[in-house]
Amino acid sequence: MRYISTRGTAPALAFDDVLLTGLARDGGLYVPESWPVLSAADLRALRGKTYAEVAATVMRPFVAGTIADADFDRIVADAYGGFDHRAVTPLVQLDQRLWLLELFHGPTLAFKDVALQLLGRLFDHVLAARGERVTVVGATSGDTGSAAIEACRDRDRVDIVILHPHERTSAVQRRQMTTVLSSNVHNVALTGTFDDCQDAVKAMFNDAAFRDALNLSAVNSINWARIMAQIAYYVAAAVALGAPDRPVAFAVPTGNFGNVYAAYAARAMGVPVAKLIIGTNSNDILARFFASGAMEMAPVVPTISPSMDIQVSSNFERLLFDLMDRDGAAVAASMAEFRGSGRFAVSQGQLARALELFAGHRTSEAETMATMSRWHRGTGYLLDPHTAVGVAAAEAADIDPSVPVVALACAHPAKFPDAVAQATGVRPGLPPHLADLFEREERVTVLPNDIEVLKEFVRARSRVAGGRA
Ligand SMILES: *Cc1c(COP(=O)(O)O)cnc(C)c1O
Repeated sequence: MRYISTRGTAPALAFDDVLLTGLARDGGLYVPESWPVLSAADLRALRGKTYAEVAATVMRPFVAGTIADADFDRIVADAYGGFDHRAVTPLVQLDQRLWLLELFHGPTLAFKDVALQLLGRLFDHVLAARGERVTVVGATSGDTGSAAIEACRDRDRVDIVILHPHERTSAVQRRQMTTVLSSNVHNVALTGTFDDCQDAVKAMFNDAAFRDALNLSAVNSINWARIMAQIAYYVAAAVALGAPDRPVAFAVPTGNFGNVYAAYAARAMGVPVAKLIIGTNSNDILARFFASGAMEMAPVVPTISPSMDIQVSSNFERLLFDLMDRDGAAVAASMAEFRGSGRFAVSQGQLARALELFAGHRTSEAETMATMSRWHRGTGYLLDPHTAVGVAAAEAADIDPSVPVVALACAHPAKFPDAVAQATGVRPGLPPHLADLFEREERVTVLPNDIEVLKEFVRARSRVAGGRA
């Protein structure tokens, strides 16, 4: 399998290069040159298989030519062996037609683990084959750092440094990062804001000599391998509910468009998907796009579903590429316009094509709280605020009542206990594997917002040539 850039001018790459590169050299995102197809017989053959078996089967064509089948099967089984549910991503029935796909059984209680647990292992495998190492550097406001750390901990070929703003993350968020004592994990509490952390990381990547000397890398949300890993749970859920013989709809709480794009990819591969319902919070740029065909930036407002407090949905570019009939120049022009003016639009024909599959729905903060409260009263189930945004969108969607709707449960309620407690009166507890989080030893280095000090810290801890061998 080869991958091409959505902006049409970067070279086509094999899987290992796409994995390590992230963003394409022309600023675009990599997508497969063509979609592998799962026939009706292929889908039927997945019935009764374990999650790891389904996932390996779905992903194998994407890594073909780079990773041997036996190695890949072992890596996939290892990635999902640590999840605390035997089904890895279990389906839970909420009512006659509405289901939840629980994606929070990984180490950090959010769906990003499904992709990142695999990504860390793929990095190790590909880097070992190439005789290389990387230094992963990232900034977090608290939410995504732990998933990256859990992905990279104990990886032979990877060192990871995560910057978070000192005393500005919740205690649970901080401890999920700082109690990982693996020798290749380094937490920095920077005396400053999240923006200062992000600026520092950007400055490191912009220093070409530093970047090359330490082989800097990111595990960010535009990495193709993250999308690839997410396709698997859509296929698994659809098969469990009767695919290829029965269509299914998905409702996806959406920020960066990575998760819902994976659903689009599953459909492109042959899964019968009747509808993709995009749930947004008050940061509703996507809901507005599907209403008007125009992507128009607005200021970010903080909500109780912070992982969706996003204005630019980077992965949307991958869908745009297909809506524009894979015309990289047209995508590049739209993206340049968006960067310049904060707005771009697709044609009415392109919008109509998108609406054959997608629907957008915005949920206010009050409706999100009411949704958590209502489902708790009716069923006893505790929805996290992100999941509630997806469930509210599912309930509002106008689709054939015979089609089952799967809402994606993207975070464990204990990850956002304050909002859940406020809505339901119940304060969710941490699951067993994190129950002793507050007794664990922490390791973190507090550093000033000084780029030279930060660079020296990273240099001294990287095992890439020049660092601690
Ligand atoms: C990251 C995240 C989202 C948004 O997913 P995208 O792939 O960015 O659209 C939604 N909910 C939770 C809990 C998340 O962590």
